[in-house]
Amino acid sequence: MDLTYQDSGRARKVAERTRAFVDEEVLPRERELLGQRDAASDADRQREGRELVEELRAVARDRDVFGPQIPEEYGGLGMEFADLLPVFEQAGRSIFAMGAMHVAAPDEGNMEILEEAGTEAQKETYLRPLVNGEVTSGFSMTEPMDGCGSDAKQINTTAEKDGDEWVIDGHKWWTSFGHGGAPDFLIVVARTNEDAHPYVGTSAFIVDADADGVEFVRDIPHMGESGMGHAEIVYDGVRVPEESMLGPKDGGLAVAQQRLGKARLTHCMRFMGMADRSLDIAKAYMDERSAYGDKLSQKQSLRFDISEGHMRLHAARAMVRHAARTIQETGSADLEVSMSKVFAARTVQDIVDTCVQVCGGNGIGKDLPLADFYENVRCFRIVDGADEAHMRSIAKHAFDDEEIKPEEVEYVTRFGDPRR
Ligand SMILES: Cc1cc2nc3c(=O)[nH]c(=O)nc-3n(C[C@H](O)[C@H](O)[C@H](O)COP(=O)(O)OP(=O)(O)OC[C@H]3O[C@@H](n4cnc5c(N)ncnc54)[C@H](O)[C@@H]3O)c2cc1C
Repeated sequence: MDLTYQDSGRARKVAERTRAFVDEEVLPRERELLGQRDAASDADRQREGRELVEELRAVARDRDVFGPQIPEEYGGLGMEFADLLPVFEQAGRSIFAMGAMHVAAPDEGNMEILEEAGTEAQKETYLRPLVNGEVTSGFSMTEPMDGCGSDAKQINTTAEKDGDEWVIDGHKWWTSFGHGGAPDFLIVVARTNEDAHPYVGTSAFIVDADADGVEFVRDIPHMGESGMGHAEIVYDGVRVPEESMLGPKDGGLAVAQQRLGKARLTHCMRFMGMADRSLDIAKAYMDERSAYGDKLSQKQSLRFDISEGHMRLHAARAMVRHAARTIQETGSADLEVSMSKVFAARTVQDIVDTCVQVCGGNGIGKDLPLADFYENVRCFRIVDGADEAHMRSIAKHAFDDEEIKPEEVEYVTRFGDPRR
């Protein structure tokens, strides 16, 4: 089913190359690795996964699909944001492809924000090695119980000025870090102005992960195997120089929102690739398997289930494409991003569930990747803002409430509106 006519010629070409890369180079290796599941411990498998990503990176470069979103001056393909959907979707068909092409979270979102908000020195020190795959990164915002979760304004981590340095104290968890193992640096959001309006007064800092006072408490055990860790971290009197501030002072939430807006959409794109591959797997199973006299692919009720999946995936693509274009053309698309994120997360979760069902026992078994997809996809209705947090924002637009208060005007004008 080809519904890609709205994508630019370039986007289609890179998406075709990506599809060939994934089918010919990644999927055979993915089976090899997942096939050893019984023999390897989680840690062994994660290490092997990282080694595979490293090997595949060279192949991705040879096949001209490495870093589609990365500017050409940094060694990527320099594609426009509005063109990324078909490419990221193809990459999203395998977690190893995402790592190999360097389009996986959190590095992908961190590259984006370093490029947009970083100083030239920050770009040389952090962005360039990150792009080259020499280092990995994390984005540290969510905090344990008494701190910020869905409500970003509740940030408890503080950064206080002491001479030429900032001293960061706080407790974070769910800081994801990429396929290269432990992160080399972290983007940490901390409160820098206690007296300011809740939407103001936090700033983002780049912190070297081996700085004194950065304590990795644990890698949080979790559902699904995404090939990356999610850390609980204590920042205990971590001293960073003034130049480590990323973006404007007291504009940390705006920096975070800027990062998250695009990152939410690229998450949708990658997960839609997982849903699309699930449909392919389910259809192949249905074509082969028969019951009660004919193939499963001839059972009308199952055909409708597959049709429903394709239809909703098409609708999700249309929403994400529209939101991506809006961001590219206007600089922000809060409402469109929230709508796309909720719809895409529900859609991919339902599609993977349907595909597990039509594959019967093999949907549950791990010879097929569907069971892994099922575990992986569940987090998408929570990460990057839970459904309800986005529905809350959509409702604010729908009811046209929350006028900008006079004391917020200056902030909103300077940093963009991070409130929704
Ligand atoms: C796999 C994974 C990776 C992550 N990576 C990162 C990362 O790299 N960096 C980072 O900083 N964070 C990360 N997070 C954290 C993630 O951003 C948060 O889990 C998410 O924002 C929700 O916050 P919370 O978990 O604190 O949920 P809470 O704020 O405790 O909310 C719990 C639930 O309450 C409901 N709820 C919330 N608000 C409302 C409302 N207004 N009305 C009705 N119901 C509501 C929702 O169902 C929500 O799921 C990650 C999380 C996961 C699971």
